[in-house]
Amino acid sequence: MKPLQQLLRPNILALKPYSSARDEYTGEEGVFLDANENPYNAPYNRYPDPHQRRLKRRIAAFKGCESDQLFLGNGSDEPIDLLFRAFCRPGTDNVVAIDPTYGMYQVAAATNDIKVQQVLLTKDFQLDVEAVLAAVDKQTKIIWLCSPNNPTGNCLRNEDIERVITGFEGLVVVDEAYIDFAPGRSLLPRLQEFPNLVILQTFSKAWGMAGLRLGMAFAQPAIIEVLSRIKYPYNLNVLTQQKAMDLLEQNQQEVAQWIELLLAERSALAQELQKLPFVSLIHPSDANFLLIRTPNAKAVYQHLINQKIIIRDRSSVSLCAGCLRITVGSPEENKQLIQALQAYK
Ligand code: PMP
Repeated sequence: MKPLQQLLRPNILALKPYSSARDEYTGEEGVFLDANENPYNAPYNRYPDPHQRRLKRRIAAFKGCESDQLFLGNGSDEPIDLLFRAFCRPGTDNVVAIDPTYGMYQVAAATNDIKVQQVLLTKDFQLDVEAVLAAVDKQTKIIWLCSPNNPTGNCLRNEDIERVITGFEGLVVVDEAYIDFAPGRSLLPRLQEFPNLVILQTFSKAWGMAGLRLGMAFAQPAIIEVLSRIKYPYNLNVLTQQKAMDLLEQNQQEVAQWIELLLAERSALAQELQKLPFVSLIHPSDANFLLIRTPNAKAVYQHLINQKIIIRDRSSVSLCAGCLRITVGSPEENKQLIQALQAYK
């Protein structure tokens, strides 16, 4: 890996972070007259902990890493944007990303005036390692990978990811938003081995907290420190921090049960979908959604919309002609979906 000083934008390297009112005093008791808050309407009158110390300790213990290897954001969309802003000089630097993949890498790149060199996955949605590394040039700062990938649903092979990480001198981001549905596949236990690896995970999927917005980035402390310096001081609100603590302390077993149920429902749903004459292929999934192929994707999509069942038409995405992406719902929701599809002519 290149020294971090060479990878970072010079202005970010020089930046002095905002010092918030509660940086100097970390005690929980006291008469707080430092932040121009209102003394009434507790507990929402107080700014949240900008460093999220308690929650970070809790999540780090759960994930088996250190607090200083963890960044918490307003969804994982926040670290996606921050990584562009910290490392890529607008109009000059570029990134490499797989195609197809999650659309926000493109949006964040465009917002920051960064070019994305897209590299097609193979036909079975795996990495073309040589092509990914060949797309790198002097201005490439980050390679974006996603495993399990969205919208294809499959995990990339870890040995391929590893070849990309070790074959590139900049950062490699592996977005593991769906990793809780693919036990044993995360690269997190190997974080220490790769100084240029950034792993993204989220509470939005398996943890059922999409509405509260809590995402995670794991990396070596020096990278985490940079993201923390440029984030909004109070990026995680009081409710999000509290609800995540509650979930981790009281509902871990329930979350494990949700995952088990959703995986069983995914198999059942795939079996039912297979029986439909107009479904030509169901791609193997390591996530909580299925990507299916049909000759009449737009018509099937519209048929479902007419019955207020919303899925995702991915038929215009690279390698995904005729593809629809279906999230695995509750047993009742999945039944409704199958019934609606059985009525399609
Ligand atoms: N990464 C991937 C691959 C996703 O599919 C999504 C959400 N659809 C996200 C990140 C963003 O998740 P969050 O809710 O944590 O911002």
